[in-house]
Amino acid sequence: MKNEETNKQEKLQTANKTHGKVKNTPQAPLVTFYETVSLRIKTELMSVRECERLKRITARDTRIIRHYLRIIFHNEDRILRKNGKVDTSLLDELTLTTSKNTQYKLRTSVPHDLKKRYPRCSVDEFQECRNKAIWTYESWKALKDNSKKELGKPCFKNKTPRTFFKGTGSRGTFQVYHKPKNAEAHLWIELRDSLDTRRSGKRNHQKLRLPLAFSPYHEKKLELDNIKILELVYKSRERKWWANFTLQYSVPSYQSTLTPAVLGIDLGIKKTAVAVLLNSTGRVIMDEIRFIVDKERQSKIWQLSRQIKDTQRKLNNSLNNGQHTKQLNSTLFRLRRRRRSITEQELGYAVNQLVGFILQLKKHYNLFISVGYPKDLQNRHRRGSGNKSLRKKVHKWCYRNFITRLKHQLAKHGFESYRVVAVNESWTSRRCSRCNSMNTTRTGQGQFKCNQCNYELDADLNGAKNIGKRLIRYVLKPKFNYIKDTLTEDYHPLRHYICFLPLGQWLK
Ligand SMILES: [Zn+2]
Repeated sequence: MKNEETNKQEKLQTANKTHGKVKNTPQAPLVTFYETVSLRIKTELMSVRECERLKRITARDTRIIRHYLRIIFHNEDRILRKNGKVDTSLLDELTLTTSKNTQYKLRTSVPHDLKKRYPRCSVDEFQECRNKAIWTYESWKALKDNSKKELGKPCFKNKTPRTFFKGTGSRGTFQVYHKPKNAEAHLWIELRDSLDTRRSGKRNHQKLRLPLAFSPYHEKKLELDNIKILELVYKSRERKWWANFTLQYSVPSYQSTLTPAVLGIDLGIKKTAVAVLLNSTGRVIMDEIRFIVDKERQSKIWQLSRQIKDTQRKLNNSLNNGQHTKQLNSTLFRLRRRRRSITEQELGYAVNQLVGFILQLKKHYNLFISVGYPKDLQNRHRRGSGNKSLRKKVHKWCYRNFITRLKHQLAKHGFESYRVVAVNESWTSRRCSRCNSMNTTRTGQGQFKCNQCNYELDADLNGAKNIGKRLIRYVLKPKFNYIKDTLTEDYHPLRHYICFLPLGQWLK
């Protein structure tokens, strides 16, 4: 009897688990992250009629999105909420009539009747166009509020279709099919569209099928169940259509009961990154320090920077003398693009190295990460300058890029956003990491010396230690009851950092 009962109970439990209805056991929180995969659409396999249809859908969508944008700009003060977001229901009240009662009454007439104007577009499609217009507007608005420069209104290029959403089941406006036996293409998109709507009578809508160029690389990356969003992009330079999928993943959050430790990371110019671990012993161990530097790429970047500087000088001279500058301009553009791509490569390399190191440390500590980020950037420092500290500010976009990449990579391993914090890095390179004195000097070869306690070490290492200590100070001597991320401007409540108490030795 007992055995049977326990069996029954077990069965019940497993059944409950599969339905996700277990109430007593708290489930581990999930970390979600997004990835994008782009695939080329094989338009050469599509018939003329299908290509024409794609063009017509796109053209109609672009017109509707523009229309929405115009309406948003026109009614800005009415539909904009205080937090800078657009109120979608208010926008709908301006644009769409309803056939069902919404909030006590039927909406039979609206100021801008889009349904009348675009009769062959369904409500779902209107909503997707509306969302795209709203996102465009909101991101433009955020950019405008943060920059001091004059910013033109967002313009919409031709051939910008709406963003497609994949709903559950048959809902949603697109489906993706994997057909490994199809000789032409292994992956197909099916777009549902109401372009062939007739005013009277119902009609089964034709589906537009788009074949995709699919490689083994994509097979590894593209998990069809996780696809959430599809965007079609036309690249006018190469005259090709691309499909950009956004995939959503969730992994269990990283939780640990081991002793806490903070990894301080200083991003620099000579060394791409320096990472140092501050653990509860209050002392730094040599094995737990990483200097990440790729000399080959670094020297390439220096060389390019020098060339850019020379070309800039030449350009200024010829501008002053009233000569033609077309060729110099294009050289400058090319050089800058190359520098940018090499820098991107180097960032990718450094992030990978760091993530490997962090995953090792994760086995031994309850790990938190503190990255230095220059807080205030003044626009006048943007021009290339020989001064090192100024150049550091010029490369602020590198820092932003680096930290976002690091956060994204670590999210894949379950690191929640409060574990990777960007802290203000100002004065961390000047302060002594042992006695907090500001009476310090930088000697040659990137060395650092404290005049107060005669402490000598690598300057970047000193900076990294200070950055790690700064997070510990924020937690253990709090001014507010949250930790603010200077990059994302997120506020993380202090309760996430309760385990920091053994790290108090670093504040002595
Ligand atoms: Zn000192």
